Amino acid sequence: MNRGRLFVISAPSGAGKTTLLKGVMSGIAKMKFSVSHTTRVPRNGEVDGVDYHFVSRETFEKMIAEGKFLEYADVHGNLYGTSHASITEQLANGYDVVLDIDVQGASILRDIPGFDAAFVFISPPSLTELERRLRGRATEDESKIQVRLRNARTELESMDKYDYIIVNIEISEATHLLSSIILAERAKSHRLPSGDPIEKVLQ
Ligand code: 5GP
Repeated sequence: MNRGRLFVISAPSGAGKTTLLKGVMSGIAKMKFSVSHTTRVPRNGEVDGVDYHFVSRETFEKMIAEGKFLEYADVHGNLYGTSHASITEQLANGYDVVLDIDVQGASILRDIPGFDAAFVFISPPSLTELERRLRGRATEDESKIQVRLRNARTELESMDKYDYIIVNIEISEATHLLSSIILAERAKSHRLPSGDPIEKVLQ
C-alpha cells in the first residue's frame, strides 16, 4: 500500500483556514485531519477528540516528557502539539493527513531530517481585513484579539518558507486552489505505488 502524504497548513488566526479546510476535506477522499492536543479551553461547539484533544497543562507536559509529540509550540499563550499517534496510523493506512499547525510547529517539522510534507500557507488579503474577520467572529475578547494580531504580523513574515501560498480573498476560489494543490501533490510521479500504474497502462 502507498503511504499517505502529509500536508502542513499554517495561517494566522482569522485567515479563514478552518472554513477552507472543512470545504476541502469534504470534497476529497482518503484525507484525515490530525487531531492535535491543546491546553486551550474548548470554544462553543468544539468537541473533545474531534476538534482537539483538550488536556490540562500537567497532562501536556507529561506527554512532552514521554516524547509523545512530533512537534509542539506555545501559541497565543496555550500549548498545542501533534502527537506521533495522531498521524502514523492514518499514513500507514494510505490516508493523506492534514496538520493544521502554527508557523513555529511547521518550522520544527521542516528541520526534521527526511521529513517529507507539502507546506501550505494561507494568508489573509491584508492585516486590516484579518482584524475585521477576527472581530466579526467574536470568539475572542479584545486582549486575545490584540495578541492574535501581533502574532499574525510575525507569522506573515514566515510565508516565504512554504511550498505554496494561498491568499484567501474569496473562500470558494481558495478552496478550489487548496484542493488542486492536494490533488497535484498526489499525482506526483514518485507518489505512485512503485511500477503499478505503468504496468497497468502497458497492458
Ligand atoms: P486555535 O486556538 O484558533 O484553534 O488555534 C490557534 C493556533 O494553533 C493556530 O495557528 C493553529 O494552527 C495552531 N495549532 C493547532 N494545533 C497545533 C499543533 O498541534 N501544533 C502547533 N504547533 N500549532 C497548532
